[in-house]
Amino acid sequence: MENNLNIIHIDMDAFFASVEQLDKPDLKGKAVIVGGVGLDNRGVVSTASYEARKYGVHSAMPIAKAKKLCPNAVYLPGRKKRYNEISDQIFNILLEFTPQVERLSIDEAFLNVKGCHRLYGSSKEIGKQIKKRIKEKTGLVCSIGVARNKFLAKIGSDLDKPDGLVVIKNNEIAEVLDPLSVKKIPGVGKKTAKKLNEIGIHKIEQLKNMEYNQLEHLFGKHGRLLYNLIRGIDNRKVSINSETKSISNETTFQNDINELDLLLKHLLELSQKVTRRIRKKKLIGNTIFIKVKDNKFNVTTRRITIKKYIDSTDDLYKFGKKLLEKVELKNPIRLIGIGIASLKEKNKEQLSLFSKYDDKSEFNIVIDSIKDKFGNKSIRRARDLLEVDKNK
Ligand SMILES: [Mg+2]
Repeated sequence: MENNLNIIHIDMDAFFASVEQLDKPDLKGKAVIVGGVGLDNRGVVSTASYEARKYGVHSAMPIAKAKKLCPNAVYLPGRKKRYNEISDQIFNILLEFTPQVERLSIDEAFLNVKGCHRLYGSSKEIGKQIKKRIKEKTGLVCSIGVARNKFLAKIGSDLDKPDGLVVIKNNEIAEVLDPLSVKKIPGVGKKTAKKLNEIGIHKIEQLKNMEYNQLEHLFGKHGRLLYNLIRGIDNRKVSINSETKSISNETTFQNDINELDLLLKHLLELSQKVTRRIRKKKLIGNTIFIKVKDNKFNVTTRRITIKKYIDSTDDLYKFGKKLLEKVELKNPIRLIGIGIASLKEKNKEQLSLFSKYDDKSEFNIVIDSIKDKFGNKSIRRARDLLEVDKNK
């Protein structure tokens, strides 16, 4: 048995669409498309059920195009609150196996299961149990990849979707990676793939024939990472605090917007939403970013890192406005977003009572999962208790 296959990547299959099929059983087996903006042809597809994917519909496709390809599908607006609720249930299941859970998005996570084998068996066995628990608890299906690192685990979870469980053993790495399209490499987007295709490179095997210098020339500072990834080398750790790495909100307008003043009004509203969320989480951050999408679907992002850590609406808006003013607004704008990253906790927590958890976010996740299981009052931070004392 190989004992260093400790990384698991889990990805829910067609998550939003599957939740809809779960809650409305008459949708089972039907083409279901979940999308945004009241589905008035201006939004994009968030998730398409596998039945809809047969027609070529995929996420990020404009709804208008999806309706041409698959006019008979059931089109539904998303229900974020419900998806978050189920997502939390899923993450609590993952936390039953290990606190080493990195939440990548609402329906994706990495686990490091080193040290869990005595209790749960091999990583493959853990994968099986996770799939079983999620199915029992939520009725949903996921795909899992098991390997020695994040890159390979993520590749694995994608190989046999839906309902897959793929282990990539160390002696199979080249065999698995070589025939894959370069598009399968996380981080290689459409543009990069096109650039590679233009010079005759379609498969990972071909990319491996390139010298390191050539890769660096093509991809700049990402060259080294890429050089390593395609050889199955990836030293990135499972990082349990990634969930709170950035917080953002965006809005798609009912009608495209031309005037800066009106854009700023929306930016202020979004700044309020974002800062309310970070204050609620008692976080502060010092990287501010904005995103602008025009009516031709061109996306522009701008970011700035400042010295001071902020959490006030005024501060976020002030820097967001500066960034927006730097964007050349050629076409009418259909979407604007603002967010804050490089987050950290606002107040130092009293952690000595919980010395086992020296990482704060791990601490928070554990606290949250205990609260979810046993109710809100079951556990309180040392600082909260101290404050109660002071108020006496
Ligand atoms: Mg998914």
